This record gives sequence, C-alpha cells and structure tokens, in this order.
Amino acid sequence: MPMSHTRHLVIVLGDQLDHQASCWDGFDPDQDRVWMAEVDQESTHVRSSKQRMVVFLSAMRHFAQELREKGVALHYTTLTDALNSHNLASELGLDIQRDPPAAVVMTAPGDWRVLTSIRQACAQHHVPLDIREDRHFFSTVRDFAAHAKTRKQLRLEYFYRELRTKTGILMDQGKPIGGAWNFDSENRESFGREGLPPIPPPSQFKPDAITRDVIRLVNTRCSDHPGSVSDQTSQASDFGWPVTRAQALEVLDRFIAQRLPLFGRYQDAMWAGEPWLFHSHLSVALNLKLLSAREVVQAAENAYHQGQVPIASAEGFIRQILGWREYVRGIYWTHMPDYLERNALHAQEPLPVFYWTGETDCRCLHDAITQTLTTGYAHHIQRLMVTGLYALLLGVNPKEIHAWYLSVYVDAVEWVELPNTLGMSQFADGGLMASKPYAASGKYIDRMSNYCAECRYDPAQRVGENACPITTLYWDFLLRHETTLEKNPRMVMQVRNLQRLSADDKKAIRSQAQRLKMTDHSGDRP
Ligand code: FAD
Ligand code: SF4
Repeated sequence: MPMSHTRHLVIVLGDQLDHQASCWDGFDPDQDRVWMAEVDQESTHVRSSKQRMVVFLSAMRHFAQELREKGVALHYTTLTDALNSHNLASELGLDIQRDPPAAVVMTAPGDWRVLTSIRQACAQHHVPLDIREDRHFFSTVRDFAAHAKTRKQLRLEYFYRELRTKTGILMDQGKPIGGAWNFDSENRESFGREGLPPIPPPSQFKPDAITRDVIRLVNTRCSDHPGSVSDQTSQASDFGWPVTRAQALEVLDRFIAQRLPLFGRYQDAMWAGEPWLFHSHLSVALNLKLLSAREVVQAAENAYHQGQVPIASAEGFIRQILGWREYVRGIYWTHMPDYLERNALHAQEPLPVFYWTGETDCRCLHDAITQTLTTGYAHHIQRLMVTGLYALLLGVNPKEIHAWYLSVYVDAVEWVELPNTLGMSQFADGGLMASKPYAASGKYIDRMSNYCAECRYDPAQRVGENACPITTLYWDFLLRHETTLEKNPRMVMQVRNLQRLSADDKKAIRSQAQRLKMTDHSGDRP
C-alpha cells in the first residue's frame, strides 16, 4: 500500500448531514478529508421512489457544497461519474487505495446493511475503522439493551418514562408535568361532523438549481421508479421538501407556531384529499440529520412552557420523538439482522399491484397510496391503519410490504421503517414491538375519517356486493389466526365476536376474502 497522506478519511452518508456529528470531533482540515458517494445500490436495493431519491441526492449535494465552502477536502462521487461502480463498499475501497488514510472515521450508520459493507471495505483494505456514537439520539443502543434486559416484555411506555426521567423533559421535580405520563386518550379525535378546521399550508420550498438538476437526473435515469416528481411547486406531485438545515429549521418553526397546537387532538384523524393535516412533516429532516432530535423536542417543550400549546399536544408530539423514534431504533439494533426474517403470522401473499398505482375502488387506500406516490408522504395513521392494515389483513409477506414502505416514503430509512412495518403494523415479530396486532375493520376507518362517505363500499358490511374489503378481510384475518389470537388477552373481545358468527357466516366471509385475494393479485408489478 502507498504511503498515507491522509490522517482520517471521514465518511458522511446521505442520512448523516450534520455539521455537529461526532465524526467531526477533532477534524483537522490540514490532515483529514471527507468522502461522500452517490451509488445506484442505495436507490435500487429497494426501488426508491423519485421523491425519496431527490430528497437524499439534493440534500447530499447541498451538504457537500457547504463543506466545500468551508474549505474541507472532499471526494464526492456522483451517480453519473463514468467510473462509479455503484457499490458503496467498492467505491470506498477505491478511495482508500487512491489515498490510503491512517484511519477511517464515521458516526455510527443507521442501517445494518451499510455498517456491514463499510466494515468489510475497511477490513479488506486493512484500514482501522473508528465508529463513533451517534449523538443525534437521546439514548444509545446500549441503553436500550440494558433496559430490555430488565423487562420480561418490551413496551414503549416504560422506555419512554425512563427517558423522560433521565432527560428531565416535561418533568417537574421527578414527576411528569400535567400529572400524567401520557395524554393518549386526548389524542384520538376525528374531525367529526363539523369537518375540518382551517389547515395551515405546509412549508414547501421551490427547488433551486441543485435540486432542479437532481430532479432532471432522477426523471431521466430512473424514469421507471415509483412515483412522480417535478420541479414546479404548484401541483400535487411537485417537489417541496427541505434539503438544507436552513429550510428544515423553517419547517420546524412553522410547525411549532401553526400546527402543534392542534397536533395532539387530531393526531389520528384522516381526511380525503388532505395529506398534511396537523402533522409536523419533520421526519425527513430528522432522519437526514438536518435537524437534531433535541432541538425539535426542546422547541415543543418551550412552546408548552410559554403557554402556546396544550400539554396534550406537546406531550403527544414529544412522545413520538423521545419515545417511539428512540424505541424503534433500540429494537432494530438489538434484533438485527434476524429481525428482517421474522414472519410470525406466516404471511405469504404478494403485495397487491395497486400499491404501486393507487388504482383501487377503496377510497381510503386510493387516497393514501396516491398521495404517497405523488408527495412521498403519508402520516402515521394512514401508514398504520390504511396501507399497513390492509397488508396485515390480506396476509402480505412481510418482506414485500417492508420493501414497499422503504421505497416510497421520503423519510424511509431501515432502522425506523423496519420495526414500524414488521413489528408495529404487520405483527411479524410476534409481539415484540406491539402487544397485539393492529387489526381493525372498515368501521375504524369510518370513525377516523370521511373516506367511507366517499367510497362505493359500506364499512359495516362484511359480505355481499357492497361489502368493504377491509371489513371482509378483518373477519377473515380473525378466522385464519383464531387459535393464535385467542391466547392474547388484548384480543379477547375481537375473538369473542368472531365466535358468535354462524358457520354459514364464516363460510361466506372466507369465500368473499378468497375472491378479493384473486382480484388483488392480478396485474404487472414494477
Ligand atoms: P408527526 O406525526 O409529526 O410525528 C413527529 C415525529 O415523530 C416524526 O417526524 C417522526 O420523527 C417521529 N415519529 C412519529 N411516529 C413514529 C414512529 N412510529 N416511529 C418512529 N418515529 C416516529 N417514520 C420514519 O421516520 N421513517 C419511516 O420509514 C417510517 N416508516 C413507517 C412505516 C410504517 C408501516 C408505519 C406505521 C410508520 C412508519 N414511520 C416511519 C413512523 C411515522 O409514520 C412517521 O415518522 C411519520 O408519519 C412522519 O410524518 P411526520 O414527520 O409528519 O410525523
Ligand atoms: Fe376504506 Fe372500506 Fe371505508 Fe371504503 S368503506 S373507504 S374500503 S374502509
């Protein structure tokens, strides 16, 4: 190997765009250099949607520009570089060979697959790899593992309480502010008969020259990838996501001022044609590390202390980040790589083709999928209780539905997507993440949205021409898994209702579900 000119080669991945990350500790611009790469492998191991690709590539290019402006020595491989091998490990290996560093330095990557390939590249080229703690998170994977050891059964609530106590967030002299650890029961309102209150427009950013270049690149190079993207900001499919820290901060400020007050109340509500509602749309900025989780939580806590938002909104929002986001990361890293293989309910159906087109008469699915493909976004209840629910009830193979979620959302990164999909929405981990399957009939969707009023199906009917497919499949799901579900104390009521049905009812449900499965599975897949 030639003599080393570089002390540290600092790796910055597409979801590590943070100038304060641990990889920069002790960075010396005279001796150290930075490595970033765009490779096809990252957008084709699952076929990334166009919106997702543009977010990642544009944000990486903006970050690279900031590094260059600071005078940092940077090797940046673009997708169109003639010699790009399009494989992360081999690109890194080539760079190490070109100018061997004394060590490779990086902040711990979010995904198992990426960590494995970087480790392999460094080992192959005999370069020490210094992986540093990801300070973006409130807890470490070791904290989670220690917590898990003390519990027979993992539950978000206990880990969340531990983190509240440890950080002092929304705490007063060791007690939770507002007199309760969570206000979940106040966070389940639908918009009801009064309809929608005025919804503030979402923060959207007109694509600059860098983003426009990326949009053109994605539209020509990856025209067959799911979804759509254009560089105007006037239509549904237009690109408006934040790709710099300054833009991400603007999204945060506007969320706190305009949406957080009603966030808690309408957290679970859905409404046809309204993708944004009172959610924060901050997941992409958080996951790319354009924002720190601490500053986001701090901003919500300050808004509560300044009397701008009720406790139910502040706590409901903070629980998503300090609670769920930390919790799923812990589950991911303490159970990978085996987690990926879990399929507790032995689900084997293929993903219906309409997940890639939105072409279905089910208004709820049509709406959630169409908005996903055009914007790269759906809020949590749409993911869990519409697209996730349908896949669970149908019995879709967990790997197929996992690949769909990872490909279509702008915020999709495996460490957060996988436990949410396999664990929370598909119960494929057998109850590690959630205490019961999130199984519901169309009546739940009817209660939480106005979708059913605009649908040709009837959520109350399980068989017949107008039967709601979700209701049919709900009963079929209970029938298929009756012996497993009756052992779960939280499913007692649902199983009891099933046992009240006559043999004829059950037969009719089974044959209607079978017909649905046959219809859903036709057509071409991308
Ligand atoms: P808000 O509703 O405003 O919530 C605030 C923040 O809390 C989010 O930005 C996010 O950072 C965090 N958060 C909320 N719920 C969760 C959760 N269940 N797990 C972890 N963090 C959470 N989130 C992702 O960031 N990436 C994914 O790939 C992803 N895949 C999902 C797949 C499925 C099947 C399900 C059910 C959920 C998934 N989630 C994922 C969680 C959640 O749906 C999104 O974080 C949220 O919808 C993002 O929109 P928002 O920023 O407006 O969130
Ligand atoms: Fe969805 Fe069924 Fe309601 Fe139609 S009736 S919107 S399919 S839940």
